[in-house]
Amino acid sequence: MTFMHQPVGVYPGSFDPIHVGHMAIVERATQIFSKVVVGILENSGKDPLFSPTERADMMRELYAGNPAVEVRRFSGLLVSFLKELDAKIIIRGMRAVSDFEYEFQMALMNRRLYPSAETVFLTPKEEYLYLSSKLVREVVALGGDVTGLVPEPVRVRLEARYRSSKGRPAAD
Ligand code: ADP
Repeated sequence: MTFMHQPVGVYPGSFDPIHVGHMAIVERATQIFSKVVVGILENSGKDPLFSPTERADMMRELYAGNPAVEVRRFSGLLVSFLKELDAKIIIRGMRAVSDFEYEFQMALMNRRLYPSAETVFLTPKEEYLYLSSKLVREVVALGGDVTGLVPEPVRVRLEARYRSSKGRPAAD
């Protein structure tokens, strides 16, 4: 088995919403892989703020000028999505010790389900170590300013969402 010259890396997540910590990982990943497929998980089991369609729209707008980044939605097992794309590399970010246990479990389970796949962990930018989508949502819900932590169109949509509907997601 060889992982040499893997052209495609798949970066899965909820991205609810995407923030600059995610974007830094995408940027680093594009320096390693010719193509990075950002996979928006539809059935994350979390109560989402933005529907998968809204998340995909925001991310496609963000990466419209970058042919190395493709935004896709997926449901079901990540390994099925990988096989569909003919990809073997899963990209994840590891922020802190708190991420380790969950990420390690997922990586080992995915290996069990698809032995020829490999999870690659990229280190975050240190200034975004604390950043999570959940924290961004909470700050906006409480009226805080997240300028610089999410792309501007995402910030505008976040504020509009909390102003108009107290943070309830659109059905999808
Ligand atoms: P999840 O898949 O748990 O819903 P997210 O969608 O928030 O997680 O994030 C997707 C991936 O991005 C995960 O691997 C997560 O560790 C990583 N990530 C999240 N926030 C950051 C950050 N601030 N810096 C680097 N990586 C991050």
